[in-house]
Amino acid sequence: MKNQKIGTVCVQSGYRPKNGEPRQVPIVQSTTFKYDTGDDMAALFNLEAEGYFYSRLQNPTCDTVAAKICELEGGTAAMLTSSGQAANFFAVFNIANSGDHVVSVSSIYGGTFNLFSVTMKKMNIDFTFVAPDCSDEELEAAFKPNTKAVFGETVANPALRVLDIERFANAAHAHGVPLIVDNTFATPINCRPFEFGADIVTHSTTKYMDGHGSAIGGAIVDSGRFDWLAHKEKFPGLTTPDDSYHGITYAEKFGKEGAFITKATAQLMRDFGCTQSPQSAFYLNLGLESLEVRMKRHTENGLRVAKFLEGCKNVTWVEYPDLETSRDYKLCKKYLPNGSCGVVSFGVKGGRDAAESFMRRLKLCSIVTHVADARTCCLHPASTTHRQMSDAELEAAGVLPDLIRLSCGLENAEDIIEDIRQALGE
Ligand SMILES: *Cc1c(COP(=O)(O)O)cnc(C)c1O
Repeated sequence: MKNQKIGTVCVQSGYRPKNGEPRQVPIVQSTTFKYDTGDDMAALFNLEAEGYFYSRLQNPTCDTVAAKICELEGGTAAMLTSSGQAANFFAVFNIANSGDHVVSVSSIYGGTFNLFSVTMKKMNIDFTFVAPDCSDEELEAAFKPNTKAVFGETVANPALRVLDIERFANAAHAHGVPLIVDNTFATPINCRPFEFGADIVTHSTTKYMDGHGSAIGGAIVDSGRFDWLAHKEKFPGLTTPDDSYHGITYAEKFGKEGAFITKATAQLMRDFGCTQSPQSAFYLNLGLESLEVRMKRHTENGLRVAKFLEGCKNVTWVEYPDLETSRDYKLCKKYLPNGSCGVVSFGVKGGRDAAESFMRRLKLCSIVTHVADARTCCLHPASTTHRQMSDAELEAAGVLPDLIRLSCGLENAEDIIEDIRQALGE
């Protein structure tokens, strides 16, 4: 069946058992796969035949779940990774090498910011960070002859800035490079970045996709639209023979639809081994089955909590893109018409200390370094996830010292609101 609604894809896609096969996705807990002849195996190693040989590269359970995520995003190929960090690292490193440059939006997840500005910098990959609402001149000035990609998050964690995907995609394409979008917070239920011109989508599946705090994981999806061969000199890794893989030229052998993911699997997964375990992929698939149902509730709860916070005297500001008062309200309506996510950021009157005492008074909402969970959770980034960043870097990332990041779970909104009310002393 073609053109199924996204809620149906969540439940049914990926694994389609044949007659007499298990109804639930089988967990193929095997490192390796058996073949009758050496020639059978050689064809696999040459990427001439399809099949499995070693779970560091590919595993049937993981592939089934990747296929579901691929369909949810409307892509042509996808892979799972061990974490969201691995997904973003692979997505960028698959096309940017030592001596290259990447333009990134500054309001991104703290872990990704570190990956780019510290670790990948040590690999001699240079990043220029631009504000999500930078001027056209600033955006244009960020590009260099060696720029290989543009990176941003649909809804930034924790700044909750909404990416103007079309604008950043147009800028990237004008310079002959792809736009990579981390779609973790929106999920394909609330936004499908490919529909607005993004080329590669990444996910921390640890968040809403798993949704129950069960398994760390990541995913990369390719739209199959970026024409690597049209910019041959920029992307030699995809457009010239890979000596470490029998001289294969990925863009020629696998086309626009498959080159990016095949290279990331054959080269990066082979060498770095950031594989998702089949067991984790199984948990992820359980989460995906209810993703549409859960995102509706997370988003409804987010809006109710945000509206409540707006009326609190001990709250200095509230950031939630769906609020009419949000600076990104227009972008939210365009890219996330059904709502953004369940995460609300706000400032507690009294700054850093008041924010910390608010956290101590919470009863229902739990303090964890996690978001997008079935249970409402709460974090003070300046003293935890973002503590390595300077005040200037914090500001650029949109994270103020009094910022509380509240991730609304699936509980009844009235109970969440009551807990916040008592902790704020309203
Ligand atoms: C959590 C997160 C990541 C990192 O994912 P892990 O699964 O924790 O490695 C990357 N991007 C965003 C937007 C995130 O929220």
